[in-house]
Amino acid sequence: MALDPRRAAVWQAMGLGPVWQSRGSAPVAAEDRTATVPAVEPVQASAAAVAMDWPTLRERVASCVACGLCKTRTQTVFGVGHAQAHWMIVGEAPGAEEDARGEPFVGQAGRLLDNMLASVGMSRQAAGATEAVFIANVLKCRPPNNRNPEPSEVASCQPFLQRQLELVGPKLVIVMGRFAAQSLLATEASIASLRGKVHGIDVAGRRVPVIVTYHPAYLLRNLADKSKSWADLCLARSTYRDLADRAAQ
Ligand code: SF4
Repeated sequence: MALDPRRAAVWQAMGLGPVWQSRGSAPVAAEDRTATVPAVEPVQASAAAVAMDWPTLRERVASCVACGLCKTRTQTVFGVGHAQAHWMIVGEAPGAEEDARGEPFVGQAGRLLDNMLASVGMSRQAAGATEAVFIANVLKCRPPNNRNPEPSEVASCQPFLQRQLELVGPKLVIVMGRFAAQSLLATEASIASLRGKVHGIDVAGRRVPVIVTYHPAYLLRNLADKSKSWADLCLARSTYRDLADRAAQ
């Protein structure tokens, strides 16, 4: 799918175009292009995150004032999990509990995510990289009243997530929720049309498969869609196993 020209211009200016550009996603019917992230306005890149190591990146995020969310956050929410986890989970932004505790996906939604991951043998606490996930959000600070992130906030924060992806070097990425999926895959397609397929992003010159699924907070309100989420996790697991099998040959 063609990238929104304004968004493409911003990402190009930030040197992010090839990293975030999705290739291989199936064309999406016009009727599926319903709820979309708003168009990106031109902004300055917030952080020269390129080549930062983990401690420097953590410090830079913790002290970041690159967008207005720094004024309303309690603290930044960097991410959690194994630094070389084979899976990386990407959500939208911290909520109230995450903002208070400094960790992504906590509370009821976090417990649901942990249970979902456990069902496929993965965990944020795993000591071994092969069973571990690293969990991060597109935004590291909570939007007030859980409003949708602004395009300029996403653009300001994107180098941090990009660097996290590069440092973790995941074999597979799962994006949770419409906003994260549209941001990471640089598309305006609906989550319904993005699910059930293996997408891909380029991270440090390597193609990484991406699976799209619902955000656990959405699943708490829409129990009927849990079975779809289970199917997404099964797709993630089979995709990961295929990769491992190919690597072993
Ligand atoms: S959301 Fe990201 S860019 Fe904005 S202040 Fe927080 S860390 Fe910085």
